[in-house]
Amino acid sequence: MENIEIAKICGLCAGCQRAINTAEEELSHGKKVTIFKEIVHNKNVNNSLISKGAVFASELEELKGAETVIIRAHGEPPETYDFLNKNNISFKDCTCPKVEKIHEEVKRFAEDGYFIIILGKFHKALHPEVLGTLGYANGRAILVENEDDLERVETLKNEKVYLVCQTTFNLKKADELIEIIEMILSKNNCHLVVNKSICDAQKFINLSSAELASQVDTMIVVGGKNSSNSLELYKNMSTICPSIFIEDINDYKQAFAEIGITLSKDLKIGITAGASTNKAELEELKQLIKKDLEEI
Ligand code: SF4
Repeated sequence: MENIEIAKICGLCAGCQRAINTAEEELSHGKKVTIFKEIVHNKNVNNSLISKGAVFASELEELKGAETVIIRAHGEPPETYDFLNKNNISFKDCTCPKVEKIHEEVKRFAEDGYFIIILGKFHKALHPEVLGTLGYANGRAILVENEDDLERVETLKNEKVYLVCQTTFNLKKADELIEIIEMILSKNNCHLVVNKSICDAQKFINLSSAELASQVDTMIVVGGKNSSNSLELYKNMSTICPSIFIEDINDYKQAFAEIGITLSKDLKIGITAGASTNKAELEELKQLIKKDLEEI
């Protein structure tokens, strides 16, 4: 094993890569591409698309007059599609097929009278994927992020309930919450159907990164600070070895200093990234560390 290793499985997932490829392909055909909201929670990936000519829009109104709109992998609620169709705006829907499946299931169960519980994250605002999924629930849904939200589950009585997970939700946390929810709903005479819709991409990135973390002195997680899957990965790595979480690869030495790690030729370093970071960035970081080590 080299002293600086990149996790075997990490970086952009198939869903995000597909959205980026679609945007790049449209740009290569000379189209004016408008990406609706950040394509991934990673400013380097977004900036790279801007440098190729893409523009980003954050509000529906800004899409009026756009030539081609890209819907990112996180998916959108039905109102977004209604708006695009009503205004004759051409778009490429890059919603990840796994997220699309959740939307279809939530819609089907909601139409069948089920109340929807989404295990998902709320960090300053609803996670965009959760926001999209909520849109298919006929207005009868709650978000559960942790034990504090279970009071709302207690109010459900004699209901049919369908539970889904945000695709990047922590698997262990989901298991804990599902166990409690099952108990509450069974006591309240509810019929519960569980769809543990957590994406395997996250699982494999976590497993591969954990394997590496157990063999090194420190782990570097590269990702956008607003990326929930990167933050989750960082938290997991921190339970195995001292870890840092950086958005800009040039910040790694500063972040090491903050946790008391000094760069040295003997230091075994693992590098990983969540599903929203381009793996090329990790290779760049590896080369940067190697260069810094030469100067020691
Ligand atoms: S993390 Fe999984 S579900 Fe989410 S966009 Fe990527 S492949 Fe799709």
